Amino acid sequence: MTAVDLGLPRVPSTRGSFSAPGRPDDPALIDTFGRVATDLRVSLTDKCNLRCTYCMPAEGLPWLPSEQVLTDEELLRLLRIAVERLGITDIRLTGGEPLLRPGLEGLVAEIAALRPRPRLSMTTNGIGLAKRAAALASAGLDRINVSLDTVDRETFRRLTRRDRLSHVLAGLAAARDAGLAPVKVNAVLLRGTNDQEAVPLLRYCLDHGYHLRFIEQMPLDAQHGWNRADMITAEEILGLLRAEFDLTPSPARRGGAPAERWLVDGGPAEVGVIASVTRPFCAACERTRLTADGAIRSCLFSNDETDLRALVRAGARDEEVADAWRATMWGKLAGHEINEAGFAQPIRPMSAIGG
Ligand code: SAM
Ligand code: SF4
Repeated sequence: MTAVDLGLPRVPSTRGSFSAPGRPDDPALIDTFGRVATDLRVSLTDKCNLRCTYCMPAEGLPWLPSEQVLTDEELLRLLRIAVERLGITDIRLTGGEPLLRPGLEGLVAEIAALRPRPRLSMTTNGIGLAKRAAALASAGLDRINVSLDTVDRETFRRLTRRDRLSHVLAGLAAARDAGLAPVKVNAVLLRGTNDQEAVPLLRYCLDHGYHLRFIEQMPLDAQHGWNRADMITAEEILGLLRAEFDLTPSPARRGGAPAERWLVDGGPAEVGVIASVTRPFCAACERTRLTADGAIRSCLFSNDETDLRALVRAGARDEEVADAWRATMWGKLAGHEINEAGFAQPIRPMSAIGG
């Protein structure tokens, strides 16, 4: 069992059962549905300095004790195994808020030095990015996604419970100036809170050259407050945007990318919509996830996970760690089952898994 203590029931353990009957002898992270995971999401910390209402409660969460969080050395070892032995080509740093991880720039430089060099990106709320974007880019960060759900100061304050909009906007500009292009913006719309913000947000992003993607709200909040009827669907998002903009399907190839893309007013500017709930893209999923305390998850919505930290701290060899990771991914389910009767929200919230 992963030693995570969120004051919640424990996640079932898969430790000690790494044999994967029927799995071909393939070094890559294959699963029984023919998918190959090449894209690793790494949570660097479960802590955050915002309190987005769709993510965590006002008082925050009981953060992981520091001795449970992977050290830089442990984390880099796991990433090296992922890149050298498991075919990971893309690494995204996330959290919690990844900018809160001490020594982030040094970690970025070490990850960028792995061979074959992975493409390296980060998802952040942008607080503090203004001062750090240039150093992150020179350390080897290739791309960045900044989460921004509104460009209205009061709406931002209500939604994130912090008055920090200007910090995020400054962070975005600094990322663009540092060459972290294309700068992507992730937005979640909440009914009655920021649904009026879809058009101003897109206008702001078009004006500043940022690529905006809306994400359907998912049942991953720590408070378990998600409600299907309240969720703003991709269809609704497109309807809100079409009141002001002409949207036509983008000719760009989608591949395993989660966003459906639309040309805005004939292009070349685009907007994306990630319909994780109403149009799941699980069949094309290329992702594997590593939590800040060293657990592997085959999906955001997994109900089990594999504790690699325990293996590493018990002195396992690289190939044993790699095998445990392979076996976890071999067990990946076909889809997230949000739309199935009996769907159970995962025990860990998004901020503790790494979004
Ligand atoms: N703190 C960083 C940030 O906000 O970008 C990284 C972690 S955050 C969990 C990653 C992404 O997940 C953000 O874009 C956030 O908007 C999104 N997110 C969080 N909770 C969500 C939910 N319940 N449904 C959909 N997206 C969510
Ligand atoms: Fe923090 Fe990101 Fe969750 Fe907002 S979405 S509370 S910024 S982890």
